[in-house]
Amino acid sequence: MTITEEEIRPQHIFDEYLRLAKEDIQEYFVGAVCEEVLCPACGAKGEHAFRKSHFDYETCPDCKTLYVSPRPAAELFSKYYTQGKASEYWATTFYKETAEARREKLWKPKAQLIHSILERFSANDFSIVDIGGGYGIFAEEIAKLLKNEVTVIEPGTHLAEACRSKSLNVVEKFLENVVVGDLPNGAKAFVSFELFEHLYDPATFLENLFEVMGSSDLFIFTTLSGTGIDIQALWEDSKSVSPPHHLNFLNPHSAELLLQRLGFKVVEITTPGKLDIDILYNNASLIKDRFWSNFVAMASDDMKAQWQELLASSGWSSHMMIVCQKP
Ligand SMILES: [Zn+2]
Repeated sequence: MTITEEEIRPQHIFDEYLRLAKEDIQEYFVGAVCEEVLCPACGAKGEHAFRKSHFDYETCPDCKTLYVSPRPAAELFSKYYTQGKASEYWATTFYKETAEARREKLWKPKAQLIHSILERFSANDFSIVDIGGGYGIFAEEIAKLLKNEVTVIEPGTHLAEACRSKSLNVVEKFLENVVVGDLPNGAKAFVSFELFEHLYDPATFLENLFEVMGSSDLFIFTTLSGTGIDIQALWEDSKSVSPPHHLNFLNPHSAELLLQRLGFKVVEITTPGKLDIDILYNNASLIKDRFWSNFVAMASDDMKAQWQELLASSGWSSHMMIVCQKP
């Protein structure tokens, strides 16, 4: 199945979302006291990369993680996400307009992909715990493929309600407040999609998760890889680099470092992305690199598809998927 950026993230809707986010930044973040943070993956001191929409990004000289530093206080992010105009627009207009396209193009394939990974570990032994499950579309789709129950951890009141109306098990909490008793018994596969890049403190998130995981439980998650081609070639003009949302761009190498440091066993890190070249094509005038600039101008659709496959299979797409386990 082919997939384009326009189908799952229509430009006019996405642009309006980014416009509202800019207004919210003025309201919540401009003038806030900021604190310098070290590389969220390896702890090294970063080097300034660029400034975008009042946020400074640094890159780690050691592991190449791209991240926001200094950072305004965590409470401001909570406020932004619960009260901001952009978040409301995302939860209403964006979801409504794209829900069915995203179900078909994103969530069904993702459910199949997760199912195929779980099959290697005997799929039906696991119940699924979806952290930040949103509207529960992935949960609905994976529930069709598995025997065991599916639980959604979702702190947002409206989203949690939407999941309950679909008869999903819902834990209406932030992960840091979840206790083992909130979760189903037996082997669990925790999943989270496009959440990690938003986290204020990725290491603390992983430590909290580790606490509630049982031995041999899995954690499968997707996040943006900062060494992915569209992010590298567009850099500060990449729409994925969108403060205040995306604070951490790890990469296959730095994600492995972080997970191992915290005691996880890394099973595999892949970049099964499909959109990098399409994103470059849609942002051709912003590409910083001559090769990619000429490539998107001249390559045939077949060539683009070939390169997309190569990027994905060799770990250089910006869409990263990680499978790890608590030993
Ligand atoms: Zn680092």
